[in-house]
Amino acid sequence: MKTYLAVDLGGTKIAAALIRNNTIVRREQIETPSSQSPAALSDALKALLLPLSHEADSVAIASTGIIDNGALTALNPDNLGGLNNYPLQDVVADITGLETVAINDAQAAAWAEYKALCQPAENMAFITVSTGVGAGLVIDGKLLAGPRGVAGHAGHMLADPNGPMCGCGRRGCVESVASGRAIARAGEAYFAAGCSGYAVYQQFLAGDENAEAIIHRSAKAIANLIADLTISLDLDVVTLGGSVGLAENYLDLVQSYLSQLPAIYQPRLIPAVTGADAGLIGVTRWAEANT
Ligand SMILES: [Zn+2]
Repeated sequence: MKTYLAVDLGGTKIAAALIRNNTIVRREQIETPSSQSPAALSDALKALLLPLSHEADSVAIASTGIIDNGALTALNPDNLGGLNNYPLQDVVADITGLETVAINDAQAAAWAEYKALCQPAENMAFITVSTGVGAGLVIDGKLLAGPRGVAGHAGHMLADPNGPMCGCGRRGCVESVASGRAIARAGEAYFAAGCSGYAVYQQFLAGDENAEAIIHRSAKAIANLIADLTISLDLDVVTLGGSVGLAENYLDLVQSYLSQLPAIYQPRLIPAVTGADAGLIGVTRWAEANT
């Protein structure tokens, strides 16, 4: 039985786990270095991974950003600061001396969700509505990564041509109107400056009209994203995750907007089940099947 060292590299934390038979047997976590310097990230990865690597046969990485042939890049290079074009896969292979693969974290989570489906499906999208909006696609039973690792970045499909400027440089992406960050920014017009998306959401649950408009706008954008993906990819099922996606009443609200559309736009919409370790578990299951 092969033991994987799975790594989940996010904007705020780096998790690493030894995984055997799809079960986490040991898990460690550190904060992502805030300096965004390549050397600081390499040092952090070394400190985290070296003590675990001697127990592993292979490394599988799920990372934020676009993973283009093992290198970390971004739709908006400014978002990653000095980490754009960081050779993530090579760095980790050097640290551990082990065979290493890397894919995007939403793609990894999508694969975990696909493997967790109770009812089999050919085509599935996983959409996470959190600080940003991410997605992963499984088509004909295979995870779609794309030749440059870009596939599934559906949070940057158009929601509103007159909407806010998105971090990727395009105006009105789904992420710019539906994400937790977008909810927080929209809430600043009505609530305390610097209020969080969570705080706006609590106002929505309490029945505040302005918060209701903001959350409805988010849910409607996600419903339209699901409809667009469904009509272009013939999806059977969409799983919705993330801190906003799984917030109280949010999925029901998305479903209510989706239900207003013709039936052909409506896949089965279900909550994501794999939780915080979806990236770790998903990339391991993907590595098992692809290496
Ligand atoms: Zn965008």
